Amino acid sequence: MNPFPIIMSAPSGGGKTTIAKELLRRRSDLGYSVSCTTRAPRPGEIDGKDYYFLTRDEFLRRRHAGDFAESAEVHGNLYGTLRSEISRVLDTGKHVVMDIDVQGARQFRVAFPESVTIFVLPPTGEVLLDRLRNRKTESPQQLAARLDSALEELRAVEEYEYVVVNDDLERAVQSVGSILDAEVFSRERVSGLRHQVEALIQHLQAEIDHHSS
Ligand code: ADP
Ligand code: 5GP
Repeated sequence: MNPFPIIMSAPSGGGKTTIAKELLRRRSDLGYSVSCTTRAPRPGEIDGKDYYFLTRDEFLRRRHAGDFAESAEVHGNLYGTLRSEISRVLDTGKHVVMDIDVQGARQFRVAFPESVTIFVLPPTGEVLLDRLRNRKTESPQQLAARLDSALEELRAVEEYEYVVVNDDLERAVQSVGSILDAEVFSRERVSGLRHQVEALIQHLQAEIDHHSS
């Protein structure tokens, strides 16, 4: 089975970063694609771990050089997935978890159609607003911009294969884990399936031929 990319999207405050971090802590078969962004680091965020924090000029230079598998402007900042991050994780045999917006997901799944796409929904609008406000990472203007894009994100839910409601965190983490466990057995992902089934058929056919002769 080849490792695959896992795209997690959600409206801002939906909890995709929290769920992704928890899954990465628990499972050894996953790695994280560290994105580039032009937004300023939040308190506690580490360059190279949470994001690669780039100037706009540096971001544009790297985009021009073709370094990104996808990139998008989200709430006034640029974000992008480095091709090198995807291969860094996949080359270790691990699935690569990506926390990207709906525009980026559209671009990415064209280039990597084997991606699993998961949309994380907040249980209610009230809960989403509370979580966003309590996170205290945005100014009132930034919060308004995030709510604007939340509408666009929510309208894209039908483009995703799976939907997980992030009510109880433990349940949401378990649900995403179950999706990944099931995907491993998806027929398209089982490598050498045709060859394996052909060998079984030949063996059984030989047995049938032997008995009927
Ligand atoms: P996103 O990455 O989608 O913007 P975050 O992961 O930053 O969202 O979550 C937004 C806030 O909500 C954070 O403060 C996080 O700790 C909190 N949060 C996430 N999931 C839950 C949950 N199931 N229950 C309670 N709080 C949560
Ligand atoms: P935040 O600033 O809250 O970390 O992220 C804001 C938004 O940018 C979220 O919707 C997040 O999924 C998205 N994002 C983070 N990294 C990337 C990326 O590499 N590409 C794209 N297209 N979106 C990203």
